[in-house]
Amino acid sequence: MNREDFPILEQQVYKKPLVYLDNAATTQKPQVVIDAMKRYYETINSNIHRGVHCLSQQATEEFEIARRCVQQFINAAHDYEVIFTRGATESINLVASCFGRTFIGEGDEIIISAMEHHSNIVPWQFLCEERGAKLKVLPFDDDGVLCLDQLESLITPRTKIVAVTHVSNTLGTCNPVAEIIRIAHAHNVPVMLDGAQAVAHQPVDVQALDCDFYCFSGHKMYGPMGIGVMYGKEAWLNQMKPYQGGGEMISTVTFEKTTYNELPFKFEAGTPAVGDAIGLRTAIEYMQQIGIQNIARHEEELLQYATEKLQQINGLRIYGRAPHKAAVISFLIGNLHPYDVGVLLDHQGVAVRTGHHCTQPIMDRFGIPGTVRASFALYNTREEVDALVAAVERATNMLM
Ligand code: PMP
Repeated sequence: MNREDFPILEQQVYKKPLVYLDNAATTQKPQVVIDAMKRYYETINSNIHRGVHCLSQQATEEFEIARRCVQQFINAAHDYEVIFTRGATESINLVASCFGRTFIGEGDEIIISAMEHHSNIVPWQFLCEERGAKLKVLPFDDDGVLCLDQLESLITPRTKIVAVTHVSNTLGTCNPVAEIIRIAHAHNVPVMLDGAQAVAHQPVDVQALDCDFYCFSGHKMYGPMGIGVMYGKEAWLNQMKPYQGGGEMISTVTFEKTTYNELPFKFEAGTPAVGDAIGLRTAIEYMQQIGIQNIARHEEELLQYATEKLQQINGLRIYGRAPHKAAVISFLIGNLHPYDVGVLLDHQGVAVRTGHHCTQPIMDRFGIPGTVRASFALYNTREEVDALVAAVERATNMLM
């Protein structure tokens, strides 16, 4: 689907056609995104918000158009609820730090799940250490499905926030986030969703979900690296302390006292990534032109096809067998080390990821060192699935 829009995919590696199946790590960029960023630097590059001159005004306008594009993409109620960050990691750190500094004290509790990316574990651990708060973990079962029936019993009057991933980058599990939010809200507990693996693969409506915070990266959704989003409900953002201090986030500064700027600027200290925001807007428009539902359908077909084919390989085990899955397949073959398999796949032109995928607790849960992970995007094809399967078979024959 639309493969010709991605110039990088035309190349060969080791004289083999590139089969790029590391999309959960980062997706490739369509020409329109590359062109939009080039055009920004060629025509209107300048610092925003502070300038009276023409280029600065144009750049400011484009930056704010990008914000409104994101607002509409996730259906936020207001554009000032969209805070630009460097990526999902910074977005989650922002929530942990600012929500934490404002609302979390000694003895309070934070609930995450056992399938979180390290970037939705470590920031909360920092906070717990700093504040004397406690981290509680919702487990998942052998198929990689969250034990939702245990959530209610983890929530206590000390629970201050639930932070879970929308889609697991390792298991592919699409979590029942609407149900999680319903349960947490029944106890007046806000919910932060890590949407890094969701936004490029399914429609996201933050108002319909009623989540309190939603975090994601531009580079996993056909946009550039260096830009991400932290969506937060206005009521929370207004109460929260700022993240970093600096230019743009202030209203007035004296040596005695500083007052803060209004939303969203209160959380955007310093010069933002204007060209990257323009690239992100272009990526969103690109996906919308194709249709997120069409992308989801295509990836679902690839997932079914690849799962079926891989399962036929002798000794291959798939980790993550939830009924509702995104197009991510983690696997191991016999007792082969995932790294060895990954290197042999690479030499056949097939780019996959190996290791713990920044989810060491998942590896501990299964008692494995890591997995081989193939993850799909809109431009992948059935022929590429065939190439993956053939390469895995060849690697297995060589190593066993
Ligand atoms: N959460 C999840 C579920 C992810 O997959 C990733 C990226 N692998 C992140 C957070 C962090 O994203 P980034 O590195 O773009 O900040």
